[in-house]
Amino acid sequence: MSTCVAPVTSPDPRSPGSRPGPVAEASAAGLSLQRLSGWGRTGFVGCRVLRVRTPDEVAHALRTADQRGVLPRGLARSYGDAAQNAGGCVLDMTGLDHLEAIDREAETIRAGAGVALGRVLAAALPSGFVLPVLPGTASVTVGGALASDVHGKNHVHEGSFATHVASFTLMLASGERRTVTRADHDVFWSTAGGMGLTGIVLDAVLQLRPVETTQVLSVRRRCEDIEALLAATATAAADHEYAVAWVDLGARGAGAGRGVVEGGDHAGVADLPADRRQRPLRQDGDHRVTVPAGWPSGVVSWPAVRALGAARWARAPRRAATRLRPLGRFLHPLDGVSDWNRLYGRPGLVQYQLAVPDGTEELVAGIVRRVAAGPAACPVAVLKRLGPQPGLLSFPLAGWTLALDFPADAPRLHHLLAELDDRVAGCGGRVYLAKDSRLRPETLIRMYPRLAEWQAVRRSLDPTGVLISDLARRTGLATAGDHRRA
Ligand SMILES: Cc1cc2nc3c(=O)[nH]c(=O)nc-3n(C[C@H](O)[C@H](O)[C@H](O)COP(=O)(O)OP(=O)(O)OC[C@H]3O[C@@H](n4cnc5c(N)ncnc54)[C@H](O)[C@@H]3O)c2cc1C
Repeated sequence: MSTCVAPVTSPDPRSPGSRPGPVAEASAAGLSLQRLSGWGRTGFVGCRVLRVRTPDEVAHALRTADQRGVLPRGLARSYGDAAQNAGGCVLDMTGLDHLEAIDREAETIRAGAGVALGRVLAAALPSGFVLPVLPGTASVTVGGALASDVHGKNHVHEGSFATHVASFTLMLASGERRTVTRADHDVFWSTAGGMGLTGIVLDAVLQLRPVETTQVLSVRRRCEDIEALLAATATAAADHEYAVAWVDLGARGAGAGRGVVEGGDHAGVADLPADRRQRPLRQDGDHRVTVPAGWPSGVVSWPAVRALGAARWARAPRRAATRLRPLGRFLHPLDGVSDWNRLYGRPGLVQYQLAVPDGTEELVAGIVRRVAAGPAACPVAVLKRLGPQPGLLSFPLAGWTLALDFPADAPRLHHLLAELDDRVAGCGGRVYLAKDSRLRPETLIRMYPRLAEWQAVRRSLDPTGVLISDLARRTGLATAGDHRRA
């Protein structure tokens, strides 16, 4: 059986991520030395990566951990350093890929932690079921979705991913296996959103919801400025199952923060054209283009953002227009372009996703105008509504979320984001740990008021701190504000 013990390479920020480096000789079966990063392709570090296929292999890796600890990793769609462990052991969980048949009576499906949500969806749709909560990409594992307690475009109605998890199997740092249900409130809601630091999820029983078709009836229209966009997004979220808005940060003057709002509902058979009603659960093909490796740096700039924004705005309808869209394309528009993170070239990208409470619409509008006027080009800005969430470290809170993408080498980016941190924390908001690569311990404490409660649960589950990530080291997630251990 493999152990996670091997020499470590020095970090090489110039190397491509998630691939064995030149010294990647497996010193034990399934073990390789790799330089890893998150989806943002910044901050590459050397890790000992062990692809595990069974719970016994996970237990063995935990029991033989050295002082740099162990961390589970899914499909590495977190943007920053949440799924890396410099100089330590990283368990590639995608080998735990068993997917059972749907339990039609209970409307559930059991999936291994390494199964991608896209695979669960593809298995469920022919039987007329979907996952009630899906994030903006389907290339996310069950374990990763639970660890970040991900949300979709329907958080106000459906809550987060964990809201629909009936139970999961958690392997503690000691190697003990535990079945966790919502009755075990603290462990459940500390693992949901716990960023892999309370234990390793081996599998989960996921609640499904019935649908009649594979299509979404979407309604979209443009809004002339950020105030109109905020109002229309709130209405769309109340009126539709799903709602999302794209903010055009390239627009200037009175139109700053204009955008397109889209609401969506699962289509019924009667909504389909006559020729599709016979096969309402037919799945549409997967059309993908790929961004080649070696894409040049500097392509994402304000002139490019303005040109693309203007073109998108021009295509969007002035008045509400309805269309049928395949569920996958509606929920995961970026999945049509594989490796789109390469568009940012060698420096990579930083995503800043904030959540702020209801009643802070002026603050959101101010942030949008501030970013639009700043030197750092922002090609992607997505606005959604959020509802309340019970998780101790879960990101959502009742209010608004805004996700902003920047080239990692944008001018004065860190100054801008530090200013946003202050505004966000000052109104009781927070940034999303699954997207973060820069928060400091003092800001984390301000943003996550239940941090100490979460730390107490984590200590009870992993008293010696075997489970550890670069995110945890950088932010002091496991220890910040914890004077007992300081
Ligand atoms: C294009 C895009 C769109 C996105 N849209 C959304 C969105 O709409 N909503 C949203 O909430 N998020 C969104 N995300 C973020 C993404 O859903 C989360 O980062 C998610 O956690 C990634 O899952 P993963 O399998 O890639 O996990 P990784 O990124 O590999 O790991 C994420 C965390 O999960 C932990 N983890 C992984 N597997 C396990 C396991 N088996 N047991 C315990 N812990 C584990 C890791 O240690 C790490 O802390 C998006 C990301 C991208 C790239």
